[in-house]
Amino acid sequence: MQCLSPSVRALPPALMVKPRLFRQLLLTLLALLLIGTCGYAGYRLSEASGIQTLTGNGERQLELNARAVESEINRYTYLPSLLELESAVSRLLLTPASQHRQRLNDYLEGLNRRSGSLATYVLDLDGRVVASSNWNQADSYLGEDLSFRAYFQDAVRGRPGRFYGIGSTTGEPGYYLAHGLRGNGRVIGVAVVKVRLDALEKRWADARVEAYVSDENGIIILASDPARRLKAVHPLDDATRERLARSLQYHWAALEELQPLARRELGHGLEEVRLLAADGQPRDYLRQSRPLADSPWHLTLLTPLAEQRRAASSHAMLAAVACALLLLLALALNQRRKVIATRLAAREALERANSELERKIAERTADLQASNTRLQDEVRERQQTEATLRQAQDGLVQAGKLAVIGQMSTSIAHELNQPLAALRTLSANAARFLERGALDTAGSNLQAIGELVDRMGRITASLRAFARRSDDRGQASLEQAVDAALFLLHSRIEQERPSLQRQFAEARLAIDQTRLEQILVNLISNALDALREQPRRELWLSGAVEGDSYQLEVRDSGAGIAPDVRAHLFEPFFTTKPGEKGLGLGLTLSASLAAAAGGSLAVRHPEEGGSAFILSLPTLREGNHRHD
Ligand code: ADP
Repeated sequence: MQCLSPSVRALPPALMVKPRLFRQLLLTLLALLLIGTCGYAGYRLSEASGIQTLTGNGERQLELNARAVESEINRYTYLPSLLELESAVSRLLLTPASQHRQRLNDYLEGLNRRSGSLATYVLDLDGRVVASSNWNQADSYLGEDLSFRAYFQDAVRGRPGRFYGIGSTTGEPGYYLAHGLRGNGRVIGVAVVKVRLDALEKRWADARVEAYVSDENGIIILASDPARRLKAVHPLDDATRERLARSLQYHWAALEELQPLARRELGHGLEEVRLLAADGQPRDYLRQSRPLADSPWHLTLLTPLAEQRRAASSHAMLAAVACALLLLLALALNQRRKVIATRLAAREALERANSELERKIAERTADLQASNTRLQDEVRERQQTEATLRQAQDGLVQAGKLAVIGQMSTSIAHELNQPLAALRTLSANAARFLERGALDTAGSNLQAIGELVDRMGRITASLRAFARRSDDRGQASLEQAVDAALFLLHSRIEQERPSLQRQFAEARLAIDQTRLEQILVNLISNALDALREQPRRELWLSGAVEGDSYQLEVRDSGAGIAPDVRAHLFEPFFTTKPGEKGLGLGLTLSASLAAAAGGSLAVRHPEEGGSAFILSLPTLREGNHRHD
């Protein structure tokens, strides 16, 4: 049964098959997450720094605009108090008479025109308008009871009356500045100047500044966006709402709350809000507020965040791109590192393989050198052995020759004894013929004696030549060698009288002449031995050129060679001949002489009987001439 390790079994097959793909997917996700985080961080940082810049700018803007609002309001502060200096005012208040009233009306009209205010009027202590700059207009305040107005109540009590409200008669919004007019050491009436502040709004609109001013009730009285006007900046409770409705300060305005769509507190007097803009679209703003000096009012500045958001988005994009580039760079560096590591590993492996190869080569070289030295030693040994063998062979050749001579000694003695006996008889006869005076007969006897002496000389010369030492090199004439061998074996041939058949042409062979003679003596001698007991005695000497060599066959019609003897023919000292007749060296020597000359000696057993020895020797050509 196959057994998997528990950890391998626990893995789902998909993960086992593609762990690399899974890893790449994970890395890609991580990279995307990192890029996203960088983008988000870039956005947040840019937003924070942008808001900081906007806050700084906003504070300066706020300060400037606050100053502008304050100076606009304060421009008219002195105006109601000025009326105290005008005698027509106190006169009318103290003695209300129509001529006094008309004079004051005219005066107020002129003053109002010069100061650029909306209306200038005077109230008596009951809060009734006694004179007004708009006395001659349809919506004149004259005779109107304004005692319910807070500015009147403040001014009557000797406090400066400040009030923003919507005129109950004209329905026109304005800023009311009231002053308690004194006469005879007491308040005798109230002077009121109504001014318009919409110049500020116009200035904001021109400068594209979004701002509003909220009064002590939290109602927006001035706003760059008219839609925000008369909205409450914080929720109004029912009591306040009722009180304000009753005072008619804002006429019949609903006083809805300026409810931001979203809001985020950023610090003291600083928040991020989403409001509907003039075009009805929701926009994000940085909202900053500060109280105005000498007044319970607040100026609020709205700085649009769209620009800054766009910048933050660009920065986020930049941060994400930079992060992606850094990741790509890291990836490239990692790839580079991997490639370098792979190259280094490959180089190291190559170097290792190289050094291993060098080590093996060195080992092999050492082995080869050792075996070379061994071979050289062996060659030297072989050469020595060969030299020793050659010496032994030479010795054997010599011994073989001497043995042949020994074997032939009887026939040599016979060869020499015969002419010697003839010499004795011929010389005695010659002496006798000389005594008788038969000189011719004596002369022919002496000539026969000379011929016999020549014959004996030839016998001894050939024996001497046969016994002489010879060497491997040389050249031989086949016919001469055959003749010399037959001559040496002359007496034995005479004895056996075989029918000799010569079937070869003259050939020049690459072997020493004497050695060839010796081989032929051995082979012919063995053949004569084999023919001795045979009734039919035939001896064939046949030869032919075969390729580079010459093959001479010495065949006899003897009894042949017994099968058990065949394997031992060329062994030294193997003989089947009795007593001193055989030495067992003839074939051994002949074969070794043939081999030394580059040839060979083989035996054949013809079917018709007898034996055939084939001597193969290289022929002599132009290229391989040998010289003694
Ligand atoms: P040896 O002639 O002194 O015996 P050789 O080496 O010449 O030594 O011959 C070895 C033996 O081979 C001989 O004893 C003989 O038995 C056998 N032999 C050689 N030549 C012939 C031949 N032509 N016919 C039969 N036997 C032969």
